[in-house]
Amino acid sequence: MNAQDAWKVAYSQLELQLDRATFDTWLRDSVFLSHEDGVFVIGVKNTYARDMLQTRLYRNVRRVLTDVVNAPVEIEFVLNRAVPTVPAVSVEDDMPLFRFLSETSEQETAVPPPPFHEAVRRPMLPELPESEINPRFTFDRFVVANSNSMAYEAARAVADAPGRNYNPFMVYGGVGLGKTHLLHAIAHVCAAKNLRTIYVSAEAFMNDMVAALRQKTMAMFREKYRSADVLLLDDVQFIGGKDGMQEEFFHTFNALHMFGKQVVLASDRHPRELHTLEDRLRSRFEGGLIIDIPPLEYEARIAILQMWAQEHCVKVPMQVLDVVAQGMRTNGVRELEGAFNSILAQMKFTHRPITVQDAETLVIRFDAPRMHSRKIAPRDIIDHVNAYFKLKPGELIGKGRAARLNQARQIAMYLCRELTDLSLPQIGELFGGRAHTTVLHGCNKVAESIEIDPLVEQQVDALRRALVGD
Ligand code: ADP
Ligand code: MG
Repeated sequence: MNAQDAWKVAYSQLELQLDRATFDTWLRDSVFLSHEDGVFVIGVKNTYARDMLQTRLYRNVRRVLTDVVNAPVEIEFVLNRAVPTVPAVSVEDDMPLFRFLSETSEQETAVPPPPFHEAVRRPMLPELPESEINPRFTFDRFVVANSNSMAYEAARAVADAPGRNYNPFMVYGGVGLGKTHLLHAIAHVCAAKNLRTIYVSAEAFMNDMVAALRQKTMAMFREKYRSADVLLLDDVQFIGGKDGMQEEFFHTFNALHMFGKQVVLASDRHPRELHTLEDRLRSRFEGGLIIDIPPLEYEARIAILQMWAQEHCVKVPMQVLDVVAQGMRTNGVRELEGAFNSILAQMKFTHRPITVQDAETLVIRFDAPRMHSRKIAPRDIIDHVNAYFKLKPGELIGKGRAARLNQARQIAMYLCRELTDLSLPQIGELFGGRAHTTVLHGCNKVAESIEIDPLVEQQVDALRRALVGD
């Protein structure tokens, strides 16, 4: 196919894909002028059309043309006052859109010469803005820890050999635990392999379907989704109870699955818990691999914060990261991100390093519900115990092993165990990297002392009241 024909094919494709007003206003009068070194020069009738095509519509046009010639192209729109009286491709006004997709249409076969679209390998391309796949949601930037390693490994396997390993693959878990991130990461890898990759939220899928029903373009809608090599559907829980959509998705799913195309799903619950999901869809989902992402452990949250600090080229003290990672324990990574961004902003505006106190204030702001339930920051415990026993700052978490200091440290560990949900290793880490067996020994020692030594009992009580009471 020569360049001029390629443009004609793209032109007729665009006529189908763009809404009529857009096409008529900006593209209908365009003409092919030349083609050199991969650059198509297209003449348009006025500067408005040129600007519009060069900016807002450029991506659409290039995508279609790239697909037609099966190679990357660039397009230059130039002013061409000699506007043709007949457009490059004429289409009858009343020609219904779906005729282009229906190969068995009688009218179509009857119209000589054959329409250009027949020369196109793939009739429709998904109209998905590139920005829907977040460039930051890659495998590289996904911090892998115990909690999410299964989901990560499975996602990698899917991305490495779509349609072969786990099909469908479903990941589920609470808000902000990286489900969307993993879906996008798979999408990046697949798109880079030139696979037709569609990422869409269930809600967007439904909106698209409703629009297609209204505009009587269901054939295009189906073609779009069923021509995917990889379809990633996010927030599947949304389709619960929406019968029309479940029906449509069921058929889309079957069409893709039958041809070994990969389907990836993300949901906030296991399909078992999606009570308004039709059984036939549930059993399809359960026929694949289902993996959950549990809440991220402390180490993962710290690693994510460290990654962000590095990306922003800022140095944030470990104690500050610790306060943030502790404070945000019950939430997903999104809250963590909010708190981290505030820290960045504060560092930028105050031009001074962030302190533990700053971080605590920020955490309280981001984690207000948690503070109401009287969860106690480990830092508070350390501060209180420090003050109570009149220790020097840093002594408690330092190396010193004097008996008095040792006892105060053990009481602080005991309170951490009682008042926070830190694990033994986490407490050990907090107290200057001590082994979890040391922590356990310390806690047991304090528990024994409370039984036999009224003074220790009194000390622990006083500290507990100071920490828990307002
Ligand atoms: P979900 O879809 O599960 O609600 P997202 O994928 O939108 O959550 O994640 C929320 C934010 O947290 C995103 O900015 C994402 O990049 C980040 N995030 C979540 N998990 C991780 C992880 N393991 N490593 C790095 N970033 C993560
Ligand atoms: Mg999500």
